[in-house]
Amino acid sequence: MTYKNYPMVSRVVFGRGSFNQLEDIIAPKRNGRNAPFIYYVDDVFKGNHWLTSRISLSYSDKIIYVPTDEEPKTSQIDQLVEEIILEYSELPSGIIGIGGGIVMDIAKAVSLMLTNPGESKDYQGWDLIKNPAIYHVGVPTISGTGAEVSRTTILTGPERKLGINSDFTPFDQVILDPELTKDVPKDQWFYTGMDCFVHCIESLNGTYLNAFSQSYGEKAYDLCKEIFLGDYLSAEDAQDKLMMASWHGGMSIAYSQVGVAHAMSYGLSYLLGIKHGIGNCIVFDHLEEFYPDGVAMFKEMKAKHQIELPKGVCSNLEEEEIDIMINVALSLEPLWENAIGKSWKKVITSEKLKTLYKKM
Ligand code: NAD
Ligand code: ZN
Repeated sequence: MTYKNYPMVSRVVFGRGSFNQLEDIIAPKRNGRNAPFIYYVDDVFKGNHWLTSRISLSYSDKIIYVPTDEEPKTSQIDQLVEEIILEYSELPSGIIGIGGGIVMDIAKAVSLMLTNPGESKDYQGWDLIKNPAIYHVGVPTISGTGAEVSRTTILTGPERKLGINSDFTPFDQVILDPELTKDVPKDQWFYTGMDCFVHCIESLNGTYLNAFSQSYGEKAYDLCKEIFLGDYLSAEDAQDKLMMASWHGGMSIAYSQVGVAHAMSYGLSYLLGIKHGIGNCIVFDHLEEFYPDGVAMFKEMKAKHQIELPKGVCSNLEEEEIDIMINVALSLEPLWENAIGKSWKKVITSEKLKTLYKKM
């Protein structure tokens, strides 16, 4: 048995207002005036926003606003890389992603593709990246995905939705400033927060579980319980704690794997473009059979925060469309093996998934 030698984020700052240190932190990484810092920023912060007005640009540094109504595509990454190469005579000094999972994944992917030849779709998979990325920094503005700590960047390509998983993917620097999350709309707070909760449930109930994953997963689970079911947290405490829950949830799946909800939610996302957080919620709501306690607690959280999930998203689909989702879900073998065990194929059949999808 060989154990994974797992890369982690090299540096991390935590604290309300720590975003103000960004400039000082990255300054020593500047490789001269022709090598800019490129900031990808969620376009929700466009305009004279209190967050973006704190970014100071020098020389040819640039802010690029990213729309986040759709999850990142490999073609989009290739386009962004090409724009940088055409515009600048030198490679950037660094790529900084400020936003949710979408923007952080874009920053990771662009920093990898600037130093690796070919198209990003060629690198979807495990350990296909050969060259270290450009220096890259993640600044989450919403908590839950664990993208700030993970070894992957999830992209939808022409053939599949699959991450670029590599030792070079994790950020060199992360800035955890919970204050940046204070204006997240409530529904989105819940969906992305539940991504973290589902990470814990899938990791803690998986066959890949070990003490490493468990120690992070249990902490994240306790924090989620306190945040989503507790009554005594201030808004600030809740923001601080959810940011740390996201981190721990990400660390937990690093050394184990996600499970049924993620496998099926990838199907929804691939076919219908349903985003990760809400997709996980739609699926998880129907998974009592696999995660009875987790789903019961999820329903309690949903009721407490008066969240109404979309219903009937699969009810008007053709059989062939359902088959596409089933194939996407079934192709994620490690997720099923973690969730059910080595003989998962005996339990998880196309018929079984069809019945489940039809309930959603
Ligand atoms: P997101 O990036 O989709 O953003 C959700 C919404 O929240 C957007 O409308 C955005 O504008 C808004 N938003 C973000 N910060 C805000 C703020 N401070 N104030 C107001 N609005 C704000 O959300 P997400 O759930 O964090 O990310 C989902 C993406 O992450 C998916 O693409 C998914 O595939 C990816 N993901 C990646 C990993 C990984 O390990 N790389 C893990 C899980 C999910
Ligand atoms: Zn997730």
